[in-house]
Amino acid sequence: MSEGRLIVLSGPSGCGKGTMIEQILKDGGYMVSVSATTRAPRSGETDGVNYHFLSREDFEQRIAENGLLEYAEYCGNFYGTPRREVEAALAGGKNVILEIEVQGALQVKERFPAAVLIFTIPPSIDELRRRLHKRGTETEDVIEKRVARALDELPIAKQYDYIILNDALEDAVHDFFTVMRAESLRADKVNLNF
Ligand code: 5GP
Repeated sequence: MSEGRLIVLSGPSGCGKGTMIEQILKDGGYMVSVSATTRAPRSGETDGVNYHFLSREDFEQRIAENGLLEYAEYCGNFYGTPRREVEAALAGGKNVILEIEVQGALQVKERFPAAVLIFTIPPSIDELRRRLHKRGTETEDVIEKRVARALDELPIAKQYDYIILNDALEDAVHDFFTVMRAESLRADKVNLNF
């Protein structure tokens, strides 16, 4: 069985990555990695499902044990990808999606050059702000912090392999699968042993 593909999906928080991933997972060949974080759970979030919610000490312990494939600090909290789960899924032939921010994404690209990095963008910053308000999980202060962070991250999108505009969900999901199809046709991935 061939190894699965490692896929990074980044983009401003509130940009609809979560909804895109829900659609993508309907295709059985994909799984999403559950990250570790020191952020407090939002209402409705479950430990082990949305995140592994850890204390700062436990997170630091994971770093020391080399248990994280990448990690970064984002808006005052730590976030990281558990190494073992991801490596096992890839070895089992699953395509693994990491929904992570840009610093972590660039670490992944360095360590796994074959990873495919996709950055999703909202139609506009006003629309992003509107979506964050609609989600209603953050205070006004945190929303503005996240909008500022989104603007900071935009230039880094140029270091990704693909940019997908998330305006209409179906189009964004279609673009995702188009990228995956194109990746599978890359000359270095195609088996020419007739
Ligand atoms: P949120 O607090 O909204 O769940 O996530 C904040 C940001 O952290 C998002 O941009 C999300 O993609 C990113 N993030 C979530 N998990 C990880 C992770 O394991 N590593 C890194 N580097 N970023 C993550």
